[in-house]
Amino acid sequence: MVIGGGYAGTIAANRLRMRADVDITLVDPRPTFVERIRLHQWVARTGDATTDYGTLLGDGIELVVDSATLIDTAARRVRMASGRSLDYDYVVYAVGSTGTTPPSVPGAAAFAVPLAEFEDAERLRAKLEELPRDAPVTVVGGGLTGIETAAELAEQGRAVTLVCGRTLAPTFSAAGRRYIATWLSRHRVVVLEGASVSEVRQDAVVLDDGPTDGPADGAVRPSALTIWAAGFGVPDLAVASGLRTDPRRRRFEPVDAAESVRITEQFMTAATTVTWRACSRCSRRTPPGPRTAAARPRRRADRCPARRRWPRSC
Ligand SMILES: Cc1cc2nc3c(=O)[nH]c(=O)nc-3n(C[C@H](O)[C@H](O)[C@H](O)COP(=O)(O)OP(=O)(O)OC[C@H]3O[C@@H](n4cnc5c(N)ncnc54)[C@H](O)[C@@H]3O)c2cc1C
Repeated sequence: MVIGGGYAGTIAANRLRMRADVDITLVDPRPTFVERIRLHQWVARTGDATTDYGTLLGDGIELVVDSATLIDTAARRVRMASGRSLDYDYVVYAVGSTGTTPPSVPGAAAFAVPLAEFEDAERLRAKLEELPRDAPVTVVGGGLTGIETAAELAEQGRAVTLVCGRTLAPTFSAAGRRYIATWLSRHRVVVLEGASVSEVRQDAVVLDDGPTDGPADGAVRPSALTIWAAGFGVPDLAVASGLRTDPRRRRFEPVDAAESVRITEQFMTAATTVTWRACSRCSRRTPPGPRTAAARPRRRADRCPARRRWPRSC
């Protein structure tokens, strides 16, 4: 049983078909595959973000549209939100990550919308629809999700402010950061580095510049829509099931064979870190998540030295 029909889970299910002696069930709450790396495009109406599972899953894979709520490792059974339970021999845990807003930021949960899940994107798309084109939009998060979202909306002529926390594109080289900053500036995105959002209001954000106590501290900027792109959450299925994880719930502790759960941890790590750093430039043409998640997490040395990308990704 593969739990989670995202990039990792879909590829895992298809790969398992190479073995004739397994029955494969893929469980996902949504009836269609959600291509998360396109969500910002879907929000801006410049691209699609869903694909029929029928076009992705090989013959013989049973798709169960349901949400796993508990993995009972003793009984080798997965309980579903619908109330039904399904037996398994092996489980692939590929539930990805969730959208989140930090409880420590007042108003974030009530007034900011994350962009990490399809339902979030639906809310954002609907809200944007109602907004006049010149209404101020704030994107919180200077990482790749925030940058891509700000860029997409700026190309639509939206008035976008990108609040970066510390630095714009912190995982990039200095030259990469300069390139992104120039592009954003040409598209009239206001980029605020060294400033965080300390409060979200219905029509504004309050800024905090951290320990330096500079000019941004306490500044209130109008924001008709605030998009939270400053981090992902972790699904609670593992913890709800009593599986042992690290304190941040991102990794499984070494799996006890007696628990009869086999977990391919690469799926978690590959999908969150490796794919981002290596392939963000070419993601529009070829989503890298599937390849990386399905295979082993690659090393830097595997990259094409000339283009600094994965050899097969472009
Ligand atoms: C806007 C945006 C842009 C991005 N752009 C890029 C990019 O350009 N390049 C890049 O490499 N990465 C990008 N990412 C990150 C990328 O989307 C993730 O790294 C990737 O989706 C992780 O793949 P996954 O298969 O592990 O998880 P997911 O794709 O999240 O799939 C998890 C699946 O599990 C299902 N699920 C969850 N809980 C349960 C449950 N209890 N029971 C059953 N099913 C469940 C979900 O419905 C989902 O279908 C972007 C992310 C966002 C939000």
